[in-house]
Amino acid sequence: MTTETTARPISLFDMKAQQALIRAEMNTRIAKVLDSGAFVNGPEVREVEEKLAAFAGARHAVGVSSGTDALQIAMMAEKIGPGDAVFLPAFTYTATAEVPLVLGATPVFVDVAEDGFNIDIADLKRRITLVKEQGKLRPRAVVGVDLYGLPADWPAILEICRAEGMFALDDAAQAFGGALDGKRLGAWADATALSFYPTKTLGCYGDGGAILTNDADRAELYRSLRTHGEGKTRYEVERTGMNGRLDTIQAAILLCKLPLLEQELASRTRIAGWYAERLANHVVVPRERPGAQSAWGLYTVILPDAATRDRVMAAMKQRGVPSAIYYPKPLHHQPAYAAAHAAGLPNGPVLSTSESLCERVLSLPMHPYLDEGQVAAVADALIAGL
Ligand SMILES: *Cc1c(COP(=O)(O)O)cnc(C)c1O
Repeated sequence: MTTETTARPISLFDMKAQQALIRAEMNTRIAKVLDSGAFVNGPEVREVEEKLAAFAGARHAVGVSSGTDALQIAMMAEKIGPGDAVFLPAFTYTATAEVPLVLGATPVFVDVAEDGFNIDIADLKRRITLVKEQGKLRPRAVVGVDLYGLPADWPAILEICRAEGMFALDDAAQAFGGALDGKRLGAWADATALSFYPTKTLGCYGDGGAILTNDADRAELYRSLRTHGEGKTRYEVERTGMNGRLDTIQAAILLCKLPLLEQELASRTRIAGWYAERLANHVVVPRERPGAQSAWGLYTVILPDAATRDRVMAAMKQRGVPSAIYYPKPLHHQPAYAAAHAAGLPNGPVLSTSESLCERVLSLPMHPYLDEGQVAAVADALIAGL
């Protein structure tokens, strides 16, 4: 096997290499939108919705303005609000916790498992029981996050949600393209939120998102909620909604990018394999649970402690290799969420794995256009800092 070395700088994400492949088509598609003037609700929105649903194996897709708005619209449709407990991991991006709070509900933080980074099923059960015993909040929803692209344990989450009458929402913002038991994320939970933020596995050139579901009634509600709660006609307002639409230009960009996604996911898997080969003897590398296919939105290793991580980051930086920490602080320690955490489950068990991972995780460059020489250079730089 030949290892190609290149002079291309190594970046965490690379949107330029991909853009070069589709630039001409993109210019044509954007020009078409400019000519049509249908900047909102143009035909490209419907077209991309159909293609997203088909790709994920979900019956319906509703384009929205961001991943955060996807989460919000999905929760608004369930009328989640004051008095409701929404269970979600303490180790995730802020948007997952922000949305229940914006709606007046209470996020209840759940610990994650070190193996796979996702919501710890035993801890989830424990906290649902505690909230019920406390009797202040109604357990209403579980938001499972497929962190870094690694699918959460959806069969287990769904079993709990069914038993408790709770809504199962998949925050797949980092995981579009991932699968479990051969079935892509998108039809596992009651609803699945996607983000098309530029660095996600499918990104547009601005903000965008979508909600996937198999439930036709929910899909119709999402369409209404993203357009101010409109009814059958434009000026009939049936419910309180929001302005949460996907722009036509972003839909056109997604239509150019979607045909590349299958191949890009295969590249990400190949790159993850190269990393594992070179790093598994030195650090804890991410592993897919049996039956799970990661979308490899990020490639995140676990180091022994914070001091080692500091050293490794410095060594990498010195060699011109970027790295990043997703996330340096668990959500229950964030100033914005501390009060909600105290109100939700004041005497809950410590979120020790979430706290510990924040000190030890490190994300390495991950995008479909890394070559094996670059992966080797990243691995060597990391090892040099150990
Ligand atoms: C990116 C992200 C979001 C939010 O998506 P936006 O499109 O930026 O609003 C939500 N949850 C997770 C886990 C994310 O990574």
